[in-house]
Parts: sequence; C-alpha cells; structure tokens
Amino acid sequence: MEEIEKTFSKEQAAIEAERCLYCYDAPCETACPAHVPIAEFIQSIRTDNLKGAREIIQEAHPLIETCGRICPEESFCQSACTRIKMDTPIKIRELHRYITDNTDPSENLELVPATKGKIAIVGGGPAGLACARELRRFGYQPVVFEKKQLGGVPANEISATRLPEEIEKKEARFVHHNFVSEVKDTTIKSLEELDKEYSAIFISTGLSGELNLDIPGNNLDGVYYSRELLKRAKSGAKLPHFKRVGVIGGGNVAVEVASVLKIEDPLRDVEVIYRRGTKELKAFKKEIEEAIEVGVTFQFLAIPKKIEGDKRVEGLVVTRAHLGEKDPSGRRNPVPIPNSDFVIPLDAVVIAIGQKADVYFPKVERDAKGLVKVSDGLMANVKGVFAGGDIVRGASTVVECVADGKKAAQNIAKYLEGGKNV
Ligand code: SF4
Repeated sequence: MEEIEKTFSKEQAAIEAERCLYCYDAPCETACPAHVPIAEFIQSIRTDNLKGAREIIQEAHPLIETCGRICPEESFCQSACTRIKMDTPIKIRELHRYITDNTDPSENLELVPATKGKIAIVGGGPAGLACARELRRFGYQPVVFEKKQLGGVPANEISATRLPEEIEKKEARFVHHNFVSEVKDTTIKSLEELDKEYSAIFISTGLSGELNLDIPGNNLDGVYYSRELLKRAKSGAKLPHFKRVGVIGGGNVAVEVASVLKIEDPLRDVEVIYRRGTKELKAFKKEIEEAIEVGVTFQFLAIPKKIEGDKRVEGLVVTRAHLGEKDPSGRRNPVPIPNSDFVIPLDAVVIAIGQKADVYFPKVERDAKGLVKVSDGLMANVKGVFAGGDIVRGASTVVECVADGKKAAQNIAKYLEGGKNV
C-alpha cells in the first residue's frame, strides 16, 4: 500500500516557515508533549540548515520520523499556534516531516560511558524506546524486554499508507543500535523475575488486548477484531475476502481499519457504525477526513444490538439513537429510540470499540480499567518501579508515550541518584 500524504517541496516548506511569528512564549512548544523547540527548527528551515533543524528536533524526541508522519498535530502543537487568530495555523507537523525526509538520522553520539546500573524496560514501543534513549544518555544500561518487533503499535499496526514500514523500522533500529544495551525476547510477568539484576524497572507494555462487544452473534464467522486485521495488513498478508463490512466504533483504530479495508479493495463497501454523533467521534479529524476521501461511509446514532446470520455474518441489527445528557468525558450519551431497529446488510463485522491491558505484575496497583496507577513522577506503588505510555494513559499517541518515556527516565535517575521518591 502506498503512502497517501506527500512531503513538502522546498518551496512549500520555505513559504510555510516564513509564516512563523516566533512568539515570545512559544505556545506551540508547550502544547507539544515532547516539547520540541518548534520556533528554533523553523528558523533553521528558513536558513536552509536542515541538518541543524533535525538536530534540534531529535534532541527532544527520539521518534521524529514516525511523529513527522502520524502525530495528531491538530490536538497538540498546531492547536496552540498564534496564527490561528490571524488566518490558519502553521503546518508544523508537515515542516517537521519535511526535515526528516530530507536528512539522515544522525545524533551527537558522544555518549557518556554506560557505567551505571541496568534498567529493565518491559515493552519496546515508543515509551520504552524513549526511556531507553534518555537512560543511556545518562550513563545507564537499558535492557528492553520485547517479544515482537521493536517499535510497538506504529511498527506492528499503523497502516503503511500513513507510516511506511521502512521509515518506522529505520527509526526503531537507530534507537536500538545506539541506545539500547540489550533486547531480550522474553515475556516478563512478575517483578520477581527482574528484582535482582536491575536497579529500576519501567513498565511500558501498552495495551495488548481488545474489548469484546457483548451482543448476540459476536462469535459468527465474519466477525473480526480491528487490531488483528491491522496487524495482518501491516505484515503484508492478504485480508479476508468480504464485500460489505461494518466497523463498529468511533476511535482512531476504527477509522484506521476502515480506511485500510477500503484502500485494499476500493470496490468493498466499508461503513463505520457509531452509536453517537459526528461531534462525539474520538478519532482525529485528519484521519476522519482521509477515511472519507478514500470512500469510507459513516452511520451515526446507531447502537449495535445483534449480529445476524446462521453460521456467517449476514447483517447487523441496530437501534436508532438520539443524543442525551453528557457523560463524565463531556460527550453526549446515545439514548435508544423505541421501535427504531433496522438491519444493515453486511458480510463482515469488525469490532473496534477499544483496547485493554493484559494483567501482569500482580504487585503493581491498577485502576478499574486495568491501567497502572502512578505518581506524578510516574512511579507505581512499588518502589523503583515506574510505568508510562498506554498502560498508564489508556490508548494514546506516540508523542505522549515519548513524553512519558523521557519523564520516567529523568525520574528513575533522580530516584537512583538522589534516593528520592518521585
Ligand atoms: S512531535 Fe507532534 S506535537 Fe510535537 S512538534 Fe512534532 S508534530 Fe508537533
């Protein structure tokens, strides 16, 4: 599958960089979870010093090629751009991407010797890799426990139409070769397995399971789970054959899998079926726009009631809804309309209603959703055990996971060097 977005030309980048106002308080930088010095890198684009621009970004962020492509800028840096008040925000992510597309990964690799203790990082996704890089820069020896390919969700699930495999692999390899002391292909399930050998532990296992939709017919042939399909698509395997598919959910994963299914077979009807309205969709605006562009349709205010079929899926019975009171997240709840059931004819249903955490580390305290509870400094209830990324936040973004990895590394160092609880 081909990448959809094209990188800026030199002229486009120059025009966009010229629009930067160099605000005194740099609100864009504060809004970027990794605090990339945005005005500084834009200044380097203006002087055509792309190598310098790359160094500025990568000093703050280890996964800059990935975020240059998939960061939801409208929720972060661009949302705070002062130019919004004048005309349109500066296209910060696209400038970010322009730099990475026109330079090679290189860093100031004059690292201090790795003479400090070994730190166990359980999970080799964005949070784990960011934590490893920071710890190695402080002189620690990060050991990453990961059974799959390093890189987490971007490596294993994000569609090649948004993040080509070679880009993401190159970046994960770079962090691995330069900052990770060792990768161990072992599943760690309890703290006792690590206690003796490691000075501290960072849990960054992410969310590996998917939530089930508890309605009749959810075990029929033709019912799939979104992440299983995304993994298959990312690995290059062919997707199952179906002609009319309903994707149940309203988050980024639902919209992403719908786009992948439509792009793989443009003749296939793909509809996202969501129980709330347009405004309540959790997926990022850019992903929704891309899905509509490739031909995905949306069925709003439809509550799934039953998957119909004998052995195979033949349709989905839904109840029409209207929007009622707001829930604690501020989104209005769907209220079923009596006697409004109707059937959407389908030959496949994809469930994409959310993810859940696998329960390892029995001594580590979790909340009702299974997410690890941490202090402001990302320490769990067990001393010397830190956690970050999706296993703490729930499903989040690469740049938020990177921010957690950096913060955890700083606090691990404080804890080990100053004996402080954080
Ligand atoms: S990492 Fe994301 S939020 Fe930060 S500057 Fe890049 S695009 Fe913006």
